[in-house]
Amino acid sequence: MESKKTCDSCGDTGCSAKKQEQNETKEEYEDRRRLQARLCRIQHKIVVLSGKGGVGKSTVAVNLATALSLSGLRVGLLDVDIHGPSVPTMLGLENETLQGTPDGLLPITFGSMKIMSIGFLLKNHDDAIIWRGPMKMGVIKQFLTDVDWGDLDYLIVDAPPGTGDEPLSLCQLIQPLDGAVIITTPQKVAAVDVRKSISFCRQVHVPVLGIIENMSGFVCPKCGVVTQIFPEGGGKKIAADMKVPFLGAIPIDPALAQSGDSGRVFIYHFSETPTGKIMQEIIDQITDTDKTNKLNS
Ligand code: ADP
Repeated sequence: MESKKTCDSCGDTGCSAKKQEQNETKEEYEDRRRLQARLCRIQHKIVVLSGKGGVGKSTVAVNLATALSLSGLRVGLLDVDIHGPSVPTMLGLENETLQGTPDGLLPITFGSMKIMSIGFLLKNHDDAIIWRGPMKMGVIKQFLTDVDWGDLDYLIVDAPPGTGDEPLSLCQLIQPLDGAVIITTPQKVAAVDVRKSISFCRQVHVPVLGIIENMSGFVCPKCGVVTQIFPEGGGKKIAADMKVPFLGAIPIDPALAQSGDSGRVFIYHFSETPTGKIMQEIIDQITDTDKTNKLNS
């Protein structure tokens, strides 16, 4: 069933969108109300962050969203990784184009999931996005405000990497945000970045749902033996040092890379493999931590 559609039809008198702030123009206030009206209809919002690109942020976002959708929940997946939007490829949706309706842009559907990606805006897959800061912020805001997400149980957001302006405005726009899942890899250089990501979350008051160490060891496709390529246990140690949950370690698995390239979602097609089971355990922990946080808030 569709719930409330606008701020005007909502009975929540305590909502901040009921009142224009002193430092806000009428136009800014209307924008904030439109954004709030969309976000109100989404029960849980989780952002997937990483200190740098290429560590598996989109892989986790796609698999997390798909697993939630397979469990019968209404799920949206928003890919605002402006310079590397890989969600369309990972879901085999590269040739999809967006359509508008009076209620906003229609997300592309994948099963029952609703997908929106910066990648759908590119005419050519090889195009690079060369936008100045304000334009990037504008498009992030538009993807939240002008997309007809409808009623959702979960919105999973694949954020731009790093701790700069783009993830910052994302975390400020999506309020309230249940929390962030931070992806890292075992190398020492990644450890510095993950500490920054945790500090970033603390500064913008976003709860850290946990750290995932991706590409942790290599699973031999022939014998299944796991070989540690980088030093072990870095992610776990950082999680303990910085007092955030450690959600688990995902090995380098050639099947995971192939599934990402071929649009076959790993958690669906490889759920019975050791890596598939690890991934599912991590996802279950994310949703459990999220529920516990919500109960305690
Ligand atoms: P990010 O979103 O952080 O830039 P991606 O999720 O796009 O990173 O992953 C980068 C590449 O690494 C993709 O080709 C993806 O399929 C691959 N990949 C991610 N995690 C693994 C893994 N554990 N094993 C093998 N390949 C992986």
